[in-house]
Amino acid sequence: MLGRLKRRIVSLRWYLIARGFLTPPTYAEGARLTPKRLLNLYLGRYHFMRGDTKLRSHPTRLTVEPTNVCNLRCPGCFTGVGETGRERSFMSLDLYRRLLAELGDYLLEIEFYNWGEPLLSKDVYTMIRDASQRGIGTIVSTNFSMPFDAGRAEQLVASGLTTLGVSLDGASQASYEQYRVRGSLERVLDNCRLVNEAKRKLNAATPRMVWEFHVFEHNVDDIETAKAMARELGMEIAISKGWVDGPDWQPPGHVVREIGPDVPARFPCTYLWEKAVVNNDGGVAPCCGAFYDEDDFAQLKVGAADLGAATFMSVWNNESYQQARALFTAREGPESARKLICFDCPVTVSWERYKQHQAAGGRPEDFKGDHSFNDGFIYFFNRRHLFGGEAIDLQPVDVPTQAAADVAGGSSLPV
Ligand code: SF4
Ligand code: SF4
Repeated sequence: MLGRLKRRIVSLRWYLIARGFLTPPTYAEGARLTPKRLLNLYLGRYHFMRGDTKLRSHPTRLTVEPTNVCNLRCPGCFTGVGETGRERSFMSLDLYRRLLAELGDYLLEIEFYNWGEPLLSKDVYTMIRDASQRGIGTIVSTNFSMPFDAGRAEQLVASGLTTLGVSLDGASQASYEQYRVRGSLERVLDNCRLVNEAKRKLNAATPRMVWEFHVFEHNVDDIETAKAMARELGMEIAISKGWVDGPDWQPPGHVVREIGPDVPARFPCTYLWEKAVVNNDGGVAPCCGAFYDEDDFAQLKVGAADLGAATFMSVWNNESYQQARALFTAREGPESARKLICFDCPVTVSWERYKQHQAAGGRPEDFKGDHSFNDGFIYFFNRRHLFGGEAIDLQPVDVPTQAAADVAGGSSLPV
């Protein structure tokens, strides 16, 4: 009797593992699930489970930075405080299309944002359309506080964009602008209405619109009003804790989505096995937390020698990537591995602690992580001192982004 029960529990466990392995990820929303994409997904998961350092699978997700120029001055953002981790510019369509040609058959999703405002790029609509036509899900996160009109709204909807996230951290101008410095709440709401009208006109179900609300102490009382406003606009709302430079805090009286502290500790970093990040200048970063080009794993040369002689896959398996993946087997290695941003990252450190906990016979559910998501943010912000800079003063500063946009010639809007 007991033996039969045990066998059933074991088969249920294997069933759940197999189901988890075969189920497409939530980020595949909007993607055409071709056999090639699914096989690549499963191969990637197999590599991840084994902790392989050299991958035959291609990335299933790609972050593309259309531009690192931004019109706002958010105090918790490198760009907002005037940092220049790399030259301010706009990604060339040529570079983007080369990436798409190599990776497009395998990608489930492309995120068009990193450290700038993507809708300032005049090419972003074309980029999204190219991806949609290849059956890749697409997502843009915008501050949407910029001149916009019905024509642009129709262009955005017609591009086939899957999801439009809108950064809206407040329900009144007074609280909203404390973080979205220079932003206009009314303008953002008007722009959301324009997209709704374009969807109606073009009879389109997408983009799904998401009100992204980062909670800080100054806007915690706006949550309920924001929920009602989002409903009225036909938007979903995603509420998450805002990053703060200093001691972590809990929004009183609210349950707010947060990653960690245990979550990162229970898994190696998925970025290194599934998601590639290519910045506006062709710099390949290990994840979207890595801001400075000194932390890049490779540079895909822009211009006539785009990608050089190398394929993206040779970058995906270069020494830096392989060393970073190896840190999740043993956090050690030569000097070059110790210099990688991944070496001291809270995710890697937590995973090492978790493995020690397991080796000592500890149960997974008893493990207590000692890093919050906010610690990860602070870790990334503090990379600056390694590159000769002072500690960052998290204050909005005035940066002449119009000049940068003019020089690059890539902006479609005044910034
Ligand atoms: S909107 Fe704010 S957070 Fe986003 S890129 Fe601009 S300054 Fe940074
Ligand atoms: S820096 Fe951290 S989060 Fe980023 S890829 Fe490396 S281990 Fe992952």
